Amino acid sequence: MKIIDLRSDTVTRPCPAMRAAMAVAEVGDDVYGEDPTVNRLEALAAGMLGTEAALFVTSGTQSNLLAIMTHCGRGDEYIAGQTAHCYRFEGGGAAVLGGVQPQPVDVEPDGTLDLVKVAAAIKPNDPHFARTRLLCLENTQAGRVLPLDYLARARTLARERGLALHLDGARLFNAAVALDVEAREITDHFESVSVCLSKGLGAPVGSLLCGSRGFVAEARRWRKVLGGGMRQAGVLAAAGIVALTENVARLAEDHANARRLAEGLAAVGGLDGDSVSVQTNMVFLSLPPDHAEALATFLCDRGVLISGRERIRLVTHRDVTSADIDRVVGACGEFFRRP
Ligand SMILES: *Cc1c(COP(=O)(O)O)cnc(C)c1O
Repeated sequence: MKIIDLRSDTVTRPCPAMRAAMAVAEVGDDVYGEDPTVNRLEALAAGMLGTEAALFVTSGTQSNLLAIMTHCGRGDEYIAGQTAHCYRFEGGGAAVLGGVQPQPVDVEPDGTLDLVKVAAAIKPNDPHFARTRLLCLENTQAGRVLPLDYLARARTLARERGLALHLDGARLFNAAVALDVEAREITDHFESVSVCLSKGLGAPVGSLLCGSRGFVAEARRWRKVLGGGMRQAGVLAAAGIVALTENVARLAEDHANARRLAEGLAAVGGLDGDSVSVQTNMVFLSLPPDHAEALATFLCDRGVLISGRERIRLVTHRDVTSADIDRVVGACGEFFRRP
């Protein structure tokens, strides 16, 4: 029985084309800037995102940390969503390793940060306060796409208040595909952007941090300090090149499968699979905790893996087909029809 893993799009395995590219990748010592495949990946990413430069890094967590440490110094502050990855899910790295204080702001139901609340959180220039230097947005945010006009307004606020603007675009290309725009229409508003290759794009490892030449040079320095300088990393970058050149447009299939899943779940009843709210590759279900655990166990016995407690998150990706979705919907239907 095929295991259908809906826990995350990080579970995707490198496809044969990636493994083939990795096997023949030209390599050199990337700490010396001499790995031709890494250099090619970085140039490709910078071109796609419309930035001067890009840096291949080990993970999205490292990428966000590098961005924060490059924009901010000790005693500075960054504003981010209460549930933002770079605040809540990165072990407090900015504070632990960068001496940078986070200022969380509630995330609105559409995934944006209310710019009035953001403005109110910016500290006056006074020794009582940390210096607010940076605003971090996330796109997609829990599967939701930030509207382009919102990004323009965030840009204006950041400019007026002297803040840098960073995008945690772990799933940037899901947002671009959902909006049917080039990625740079989103990234043009930001000084720096982090993108994951290891999620829906299917690479085994790696993220890219993109920005100006000066920004990336400084981030490169911090990457070395954090122990993230890799040597013959072209073996990994080769997979990243396949991810960026072959796997972006197909994210639309993941979005279609997520809608199929939400509609299927709504039809079998017992679930609030709100298909209207599914914008990209994530479906969320709110269930009482004991119910959620029972569902997870029931599905696991049928070869379907899910995670989450009260709020179950189901993530579609390249290793899940529409037939798999139908199997999941069927199993959920069985669960909810139990006596
Ligand atoms: C996955 C993710 C990251 C970083 O993930 P790593 O597991 O460190 O690569 C950052 N931000 C968001 C929004 C993510 O979903």
